[in-house]
Amino acid sequence: MTPLRLAIVGLGKIARDQHLPSIAAMPAITLVAVADPNATLDGVPHFASLEELLRNGPPIDAVALCTPPLMRGAQAAAALAAGKHVLLEKPPGAVVSAIAPLTEVARASGKTLFATWHARFAPAVEPARAFLAQREIRSVHVIWKEDVRVWHPGQAWIWRPGGFGVFDPGINALSIVTRILPRPFFLTAAELAFPSNCAAPIAADLDFTDAAGLPIRAEFDFRQTGTQSWDIVVETDQGRLTLSAGGAKLIHGDNVLMDEKKVAYPAIYRRFVELITRGESDVDLAPLVHVADAFMLGRRVVVDAFEE
Ligand code: NAP
Repeated sequence: MTPLRLAIVGLGKIARDQHLPSIAAMPAITLVAVADPNATLDGVPHFASLEELLRNGPPIDAVALCTPPLMRGAQAAAALAAGKHVLLEKPPGAVVSAIAPLTEVARASGKTLFATWHARFAPAVEPARAFLAQREIRSVHVIWKEDVRVWHPGQAWIWRPGGFGVFDPGINALSIVTRILPRPFFLTAAELAFPSNCAAPIAADLDFTDAAGLPIRAEFDFRQTGTQSWDIVVETDQGRLTLSAGGAKLIHGDNVLMDEKKVAYPAIYRRFVELITRGESDVDLAPLVHVADAFMLGRRVVVDAFEE
């Protein structure tokens, strides 16, 4: 099979940390261009924008959109209109209504749209889903607390409208919880803490439930220093199941069932190629809908200004 000719749009932290090495290791994909206002890559043709790439670039089959979320919906629409397959970094966009119709656009044009949720590729996620499918679940507690200065150094966009603030990592937790729980759930209350100088929250407390009244609580905080917490604790009729380290580790009671470092992105690209081969798309907007609900329902409090 001829390799898929791919361009990366948005050559920032995640593109360099994860996308480039994953693509380099995959014979089924060749990186043929990058589009970014400033960043360049030795030996790879560079374009200042997606529009310039589509107008003047080499032939491409697909784009990986690794830009900040606010512009991603319009870029996905433009790439699909130009007949390209599209891989979206998470979150797929900054507003639900920009992304939802694109699945139909992709279907009608025979192209693939893949809204990736990298956290769902963590090794403990599918085993946790299988475990929980057989149990009575009594409560869920999500603790997702990380240091924004470590993970998003100098990224001003994250504090602007549409930047998501703490929901940038928090949506990773929501992408796991929406995958492992057997029933859909919905928000009942939320408190969002906005730094006095920012348009996006730095912390959030969220309460959800489902049709059976399951209590689900989530605490997101971007101000964590020292040990980072990416934990989901589920109480069941057969003991406590804990996914920790962002889904790398699975513990049942005191028994460690799994403790495995696995990089998600090679599996994400394998899935992208598989979807293209099958002529399918994969767009699950549930985590994004929960974040939109939090902005609708959440009580807002103002906290100390954030200085980088
Ligand atoms: P980033 O480092 O700020 O990278 C974004 C890149 O996109 C920058 O190089 C930026 O250039 C460029 N860009 C801005 N406008 C553009 C445009 N119109 N066309 C093309 N490129 C444009 O951000 P990031 O951390 O990589 O995050 C990007 C996405 O990946 C986010 O949605 C994030 O949630 C997700 N993600 C990030 C991580 C992580 O650890 N950081 C992990 C997983 C997923 P300028 O800087 O010059 O504006």
